[in-house]
Amino acid sequence: MIFNESFIEVTYIIATALFILSLKWLSSPKTSRWGVWAGEIGMALAIIGTLLYRGIVDYKLVAIGLVVGTIIGVPLGKVAMTAVPQRTALSHAFGALCVTLVGTSEFYLRSPDISPFMMSVLSMEVILGSLTFTGSLMAAGKLQEVLPQRPITYKGQNFVNLGMLALAIAIAVILVLHPDQTRLFPALIFIPLVFGVMLIIPIGGADMPTVISLLNSYAGLSAAAMGFVLNSKLLIIAGALDGSSGFILSVIMSKAMNRSFTNVLFGGFGQIQAASGGEKEQRPVKSATPEEAAAILAAASRVVVVPGYGMAVAQAQHKVRELFDALTKRGVNVTFGIHPVAGRMPGHMNVLLAEADIPYDRLLEMDAINGDMAQTDVALVIGANDVTNPAARTDASSPIYGMPILDVDKARTVMVIKRSMAAGFAGIENPLYYMDHNLMLFGDAKNFVGNIVRELSGSGSDGH
Ligand code: NAP
Repeated sequence: MIFNESFIEVTYIIATALFILSLKWLSSPKTSRWGVWAGEIGMALAIIGTLLYRGIVDYKLVAIGLVVGTIIGVPLGKVAMTAVPQRTALSHAFGALCVTLVGTSEFYLRSPDISPFMMSVLSMEVILGSLTFTGSLMAAGKLQEVLPQRPITYKGQNFVNLGMLALAIAIAVILVLHPDQTRLFPALIFIPLVFGVMLIIPIGGADMPTVISLLNSYAGLSAAAMGFVLNSKLLIIAGALDGSSGFILSVIMSKAMNRSFTNVLFGGFGQIQAASGGEKEQRPVKSATPEEAAAILAAASRVVVVPGYGMAVAQAQHKVRELFDALTKRGVNVTFGIHPVAGRMPGHMNVLLAEADIPYDRLLEMDAINGDMAQTDVALVIGANDVTNPAARTDASSPIYGMPILDVDKARTVMVIKRSMAAGFAGIENPLYYMDHNLMLFGDAKNFVGNIVRELSGSGSDGH
């Protein structure tokens, strides 16, 4: 059976359209499932189109690649949701390695007959691919805690890093002018490989998700460059979509943490974690039992639930749904305040609460809910810490000063479910816990919420 070029082109055009639709649909919870399907079908079509390409001389190696990819890919798809950032970083590393290898083979196949334009995009492909490969591996290692999360900094670090990048670009320029200088090419791979490591070591664990999003953008751009080298419109478009969406996401995340890009990349942020981790406040805090918490919630008419990383770790979202049902049945108005960087990845809370079928119109973004906080009877914080820390508003010396937060301290009563007085991801004290109108509900989020629900339903049946 002969598949001609135009059949393959049509396959690619449909795949491209599906990628664009996928991004569009993924941006709304109502259509996000279609978005996943569109992306998957688009990728399947892209693979099929590529397999039909007549230039393939031996399918054996392709088959081995597919088998190896599947063996690695299936378990990667099953990691816990809290591990998705490092899993994503690993995918970027694989993609970037692939781009670098393709660029390398294209160089040696074509040299010395490479036009200046072609050599420019090829250099961009290899530089971005190599630095994304090692950078993403480092980021995954830091998030998985197999590497130290603490930033490692030294004097003149930025100078050394930028110097390395400048050297790689200088070699690229020489190769553009003299593509026959094949001996220089390994340096074009090696220097960015080292640069990728050096780029990540001064960045603390807390900034890793933002950096991963930026590396996503680099991986996309290197794939787009590869598209020019291989003359594939599909790769150019898919790479550009990946590059721009990764970049936009990192900008959104930086904004939500009130950080600039340069501060994320060169700020050595996580150092603060190590510095302030040791000293603990000794002031007393008020705590309450599930029975007391249930009574306070039952007496409220307006409750705002603020979920965070702890709810994700405890997998408490289904219990939270039961709590939502129990309170709503009693006529309590329950809404959820969602901070853009609550948890460990963008949209983390939205995904978990949607999984538990909590009605989407009950989820309000920070700006929408903060204005109503003063009219709220109870703000119930479930495993969130940094995103509720009032020091961000009041303490100019705080490392998170200026970060927009959920103003739970403005509610009449605040209740915080967490296991201990331990700090959150930024590693800093939360003055909220010592306020007069705050009650600590010590325990695992799933168990504690479950106990509140039990109390509510026990007294609820003979109540209203
Ligand atoms: P957080 O500040 O990390 O605090 C989470 C709290 O959950 C901890 O203080 C912990 O206290 C508690 N916890 C852990 N396991 C628990 C369990 N099983 N049951 C109950 N509580 C538990 O989380 P957050 O308020 O969601 O803030 C997110 C942080 O991540 C921010 O600093 C943000 O800048 C950063 N970040 C997020 C993103 C993103 O995309 N979402 C990206 C980059 C950075 P105990 O140990 O005492 O229980």
